[in-house]
Amino acid sequence: MTAPTFTQPEAGGTQLGQPGADGDDAIAGELKHIILDASRNAPRSRQSSIGPSEIGAACDRRLAYKILDWDKANTGGDPLASILGTGYHNWAEAAFSRPELGGRWLVEQRLTIAPPLIPGGSCDLYDTLHDRVIDWKVVGDSMIRKYKAEGPRREYRVQGHTYGLGWELAGYRPKEVVLAVLPRTGYLSGMWIWREPYDRQIALDAIARIYAIRDLIVAIDPEANPPMWELIPAVPSFGCKWCPWFKPASTDLGAGCPGNVPPKTRTRTNAAKAA
Ligand code: SF4
Repeated sequence: MTAPTFTQPEAGGTQLGQPGADGDDAIAGELKHIILDASRNAPRSRQSSIGPSEIGAACDRRLAYKILDWDKANTGGDPLASILGTGYHNWAEAAFSRPELGGRWLVEQRLTIAPPLIPGGSCDLYDTLHDRVIDWKVVGDSMIRKYKAEGPRREYRVQGHTYGLGWELAGYRPKEVVLAVLPRTGYLSGMWIWREPYDRQIALDAIARIYAIRDLIVAIDPEANPPMWELIPAVPSFGCKWCPWFKPASTDLGAGCPGNVPPKTRTRTNAAKAA
C-alpha cells in the first residue's frame, strides 16, 4: 500500500480551514465595516465646532477648514488607535467616579471656553485636592519616547491650558496642567507624566488666534473666492496624513489641501544602504 504523500503549501500561501485562510477574510471585512461605520458616525467624528483639542494645531489652513465646517477630503484613516483611546477614557471615567473616592476627582466635566467659535469641551479629570487639570493620552511607544525627548505636542499643551481656563471660568483655581500619557501597547508601569504650572495666557493666545483666523476668513471669503485659500497659511507636517482636509497632489484647495508633506529625513542606515 502506498503511503499518502504530503505536499507543502506554496510559500506564502494559506490553506483553507487553517487560521488566516481566505475564508476568514469575509469575517474580518464585515467586522471592520461595522467598526468603521460606528467610528465615522461617533459624536466626536461629527462635531463641527472647534474643541480645546484642536485649537493648538500648528496649521492655520486646517483651522480655517474646521471653522467653515468644510467638506472633508480625507475620511479613510484607520480609527483603531482612536477607538482604543476612547475605550480607555470610558474606563477611566467610571474608575475615577467611584463613590469611595469621596468626590475628589471631577470627571468628564463639560466646560465653557469661548463661545461661539470655541464653545467648550469635556475635561478628562480635575483633581480638587491639588487643583490639577489632567488629560489622558493613550499613544504608541515611539510617541512616548519622542515626547520624553522633545516634550509633548503643542496641541496637547494648549489643550491642557485651555481646559484650565474653562475650570477658572467655572470658579475653580487650577494650579497645574498634567498630561498622563499611557502606552497603547505596553503596561501601566510605562505611564509617563508631563506637568507644568497653569498659564492662562497660553489659552488666551490660542483663542485669540482662532478668532484672528475667523476674521481672515471673513475678509478674504474663500467660500466665494476659492483661490483665496492660498492666502491662509499652511504648515505641512507628517501630521497632514491625519488632517481631514488632506488631499494628496490637490491643485484645488477648495477640494482639499496637498499638504506638501516634507520627505522623511534619511537615516544614516538608509544613506549607507543607498551608497
Ligand atoms: S493637509 Fe497639512 S498643510 Fe494642509 S490643511 Fe491639513 S494640516 Fe494644513
